[in-house]
Formats: sequence, C-alpha cells, structure tokens
Amino acid sequence: MSSITPKGFIEVVDEDGALEICQTDGPYGLGVRTLTARAAGEVAHRFTGVIGPELKQHTLQMPDGQHIAETRFIGFLSHSCDPDCRLDMGRFELVALRDTAAGDLLTIDYAASEDVLFRQFACHCGAAACRHWITGRLEGPNAEGQAYLAGLPPT
Ligand SMILES: [Zn+2]
Repeated sequence: MSSITPKGFIEVVDEDGALEICQTDGPYGLGVRTLTARAAGEVAHRFTGVIGPELKQHTLQMPDGQHIAETRFIGFLSHSCDPDCRLDMGRFELVALRDTAAGDLLTIDYAASEDVLFRQFACHCGAAACRHWITGRLEGPNAEGQAYLAGLPPT
C-alpha cells in the first residue's frame, strides 16, 4: 500500500520483484522485462517514486500534471506504438494489456501519460500502426520530427 507524505514522497515497497532492468536490442539502451508470465489485465508492478513539478528524462506524468521521478523500473520502460502494458498513473500500477511470457520486454505508449516528452524521438517499434515519430499527446512533431517524417518513404 502507498501513502503520500506531506513532502510529496511516496513510501511504498515494491510488491513484487518480478521485473528486471535489461539492455535492449534496439538503440534505446535500457528496458524492462518481466521475469514472470502475466495475463492480460493483470497488474505487473506497483511503483513508487518521488513526485515533483519537474519534467525529466525518466519521469512520468501524474494525472495532476506533476511528474514522478526515481521510480525503480517504470522510468526505463521502452515505448511501443502497440504496447503490451499501460500505466495507471492514478493507482501507481503497470497493467498488462495482453498476455506476456517470462523474459518479454515490457512496453508502454509514452503519449498515453505524457503531455510533452522530455525528448521526442524516431520510433522503430515495428507495429502496424507505428507513428514513426513519438511526441507527447499535446504537442506536434518538432522541426527534427517534421523533417524525419517528411523523409519517410511513402507507404
Ligand atoms: Zn512505433
């Protein structure tokens, strides 16, 4: 269970140790994989961190517009346009969207929680509905993104 202290620190013990930070195959560096199989709809992880006003590289946006930092795992989740997990930022839960097997890389859609990204980036997730350039949900592609998208071959 979690409790929020007056200073904004949330004191929670991870309820399971079933996630692991790992090196991904892609160019994105670190990711998170599950060490146990999860069924669709199951909570894969409950997280904690430090909540404050600042948007940083590994923070995630809370429903009230603040940002949670220093999470053990979720700041390292990789993006996919067809993710296998979603974050419930109100309940501090990572929820499986489909069945996952032990060893699977867990992914989320960054635009699902973030109004604005710390850094927009090109996506090579391979999903049929890949957006190719990832932004927050309230922002359009920056100049680099517009140039990148304009340079993509027509589909
Ligand atoms: Zn994608």
